[in-house]
Amino acid sequence: MSLLSVRLEENTRRAIRRAMHAGTLRAAVVPLASTEQHNEHLAMSHDASCVGWICRQAAERVFPAAVVTPVVHFGISEHWMDHPGTLTLTPETFAQVVYEICDSLRRGGIGRILLVNGHGGNRRPIEAHLEEFRAKLGIRLELCSYWEAYSSDFVKRCLESGECPGHSGEFETSEAMAIFPQSVHMDEEAYPAGEVRITDAKRAADDQRFFATARLASAEKGRVMLEAAVDWLAARIETLTR
Ligand SMILES: [Zn+2]
Repeated sequence: MSLLSVRLEENTRRAIRRAMHAGTLRAAVVPLASTEQHNEHLAMSHDASCVGWICRQAAERVFPAAVVTPVVHFGISEHWMDHPGTLTLTPETFAQVVYEICDSLRRGGIGRILLVNGHGGNRRPIEAHLEEFRAKLGIRLELCSYWEAYSSDFVKRCLESGECPGHSGEFETSEAMAIFPQSVHMDEEAYPAGEVRITDAKRAADDQRFFATARLASAEKGRVMLEAAVDWLAARIETLTR
């Protein structure tokens, strides 16, 4: 086995070259995320940390048949630009970045790619380009968001709020508690309504609701849901590499 790590970037060129020549490395997983506000208590990196973790755990199960690229840390977050610290690309730039990553993998001989989205705002713009990308690249290219792993019944069983993915509510806060608790900054401070300015009225209301439902989060809920996502994604990657 010549591959050194499930993370593409931790391999040497020799490791990748030999795995390609041997035909053992057959697919790449590209996690898509964001750097954006996650309410008062979660880190801007939440989506990236989560989707990267899930992809690596899932790809480990089929190692060395698939590698995971570095997470695309910048996504489409125009709708959160009221919050300083949020970084956004335009949908066109984001789609182009994703395309060029896929094209680089194709040029290296990878003919099967799974894009795994971990930020809601990224989904539609990529979906809109998917057919075009497939035609231009001439490879097997698939797209999913990792929370597609969950049926509505499963969500109802796991979460008191019943909201998934939501934004920084019970679900995402539980995920963070399970895998990177040091990034959860929940305290006794009340929602700073006078300080937070959100232009869109619905988003403003949702923000307060998610602030409240985050209090329902637990590491155990996070573990159960993450495990289900890893199982589901591992099966998808396995099918892709077959
Ligand atoms: Zn998020």
